Amino acid sequence: MDLDTTSFSNVINNCLTSTPETRHGINPANRQPNPEVPISTGRDLEEAVKAARAAFKTWSTTDFDKRREAINAYAKSVEANKSILAQLLTKEQGKPLSQAMQEVELAVHWARTLVTLALPETTLEDTDNRQILQRYTPLGVVGAIVPWNYPVVLAMGKIIGAVYTGNAVILKPSPYTPYCGLKLAELAMDHFPPGVMQALSGDDTLGPMMTEHGGIDKISFTGSTATGRLVMASCSKTLKRLTLELGGNDAAIICDDIDLEAVIPKVATLAFLCSGQTCMTVKRLYIHEKIYDEFRARLVKFVGKFPMGEGTRPDVFIGPVQNWMQFNKAKVLMRTIEADNLTAVLGGTVPESPGYFIPPTIVDNPPEASRIVQEEPFAPILPILKWSDEADVIARANASDMGLGASVWSQDLERARRIVDRLEAGNVWINTHFEVEPFAPFGGHKSSGIGTEWGLLGLTQFCNSQTVYVKKSP
Ligand code: NAD
Repeated sequence: MDLDTTSFSNVINNCLTSTPETRHGINPANRQPNPEVPISTGRDLEEAVKAARAAFKTWSTTDFDKRREAINAYAKSVEANKSILAQLLTKEQGKPLSQAMQEVELAVHWARTLVTLALPETTLEDTDNRQILQRYTPLGVVGAIVPWNYPVVLAMGKIIGAVYTGNAVILKPSPYTPYCGLKLAELAMDHFPPGVMQALSGDDTLGPMMTEHGGIDKISFTGSTATGRLVMASCSKTLKRLTLELGGNDAAIICDDIDLEAVIPKVATLAFLCSGQTCMTVKRLYIHEKIYDEFRARLVKFVGKFPMGEGTRPDVFIGPVQNWMQFNKAKVLMRTIEADNLTAVLGGTVPESPGYFIPPTIVDNPPEASRIVQEEPFAPILPILKWSDEADVIARANASDMGLGASVWSQDLERARRIVDRLEAGNVWINTHFEVEPFAPFGGHKSSGIGTEWGLLGLTQFCNSQTVYVKKSP
């Protein structure tokens, strides 16, 4: 039977539950209300935590093969519903259907790949009279708090990381994009014992309730740096384990030896993907002065052709930004173009439209200190900047509180490597950007986060380390 996308419930202990009060998200392409979703109360959270703690007792002792089997079956059901989920994702997030489909497919790929990794048990010493082992044991109950830009794949990374390592998980989607997250939990009901995978939708009070709750052992949080600080402060009261995947302001450094024809479409697509609302993609583009003018002209021509509109239209590349708050933030940033005497070589104004549409905007060589360079726009607004000296561009790329990603583009791999080795970011690339894999750890430096997700390292962060000492004769 097809997944029903007309009604939405919490998932607690493998039951669909409702709440006395409900709310709804908004379709950002036309500002029409999406269906009602629960507003979870403290009581709903108590019930979910109680079910999760009970489930943890047996799930944590279920062997890896069984957990892997359940996750693979779950991935299959998500895959079987990928078209429905992609349509729902476009309706709640706004991204074009092609990008929504890619996200759902990535989520399935994440699930299937994470379970191919094996947590090591390491023998640290093995002598005639003593053995010392180091191994990983699950933490308990994980609260997974997810933002609105990639609500499916980011949720899936947390769900699978947690349950594969033997934890129970409570997913909290963003109030802006609660729909797919609730359906991911609904699909999980057929594959996991009650209490292992649950989801609660709520308003702004639910996140803080989770970070404070004594029955939750870890918060896996993805969102803004400002909220990350609040989450960390709150988690300190119960000494919860914590992973923070936060904001970014990634620099891409373009050297003078690149093939413009090949590089411009890639950089342009990366910078404007998901209407610029990707945590870790090109947000400051440093172009070598020798090729600056030609690069700018070709980039403007290429980006100027991106079709913008409702994500359900087949040819669209630029959808709306996701919500009213983000739309207004972007408009405020756009106003600084005129106020700071900057030049928009593309876009720069926001026409009236039925949705939250911001036309792609490129700002020509603004001063390094301008807001448009210093702040993460999280909208289709890209500053391009000129450079000539290698040490100087490295210093400018690193002159940010953020350190999520950074890239260098050059045909000379030695030169690119020399530059990339000096960039302060958790993910650095040569001749690409935002290339991520479920088997590779992902995390930010500086104010872009604490800890990692994905890869073996990410899995260990859903665990405690345990050291076992065995004296061979008493
Ligand atoms: P946000 O911080 O406003 O919200 C993220 C989540 O936290 C939501 O589910 C929200 O309801 C919840 N939340 C809000 N206040 C909370 C509190 N006090 N305690 C607990 N939870 C709370 O972020 P957003 O606007 O949804 O997402 C955009 C931001 O996320 C951008 O800065 C982007 O760079 C960042 N992001 C980072 C990554 C990464 O992997 N590093 C990935 C995607 C997005």
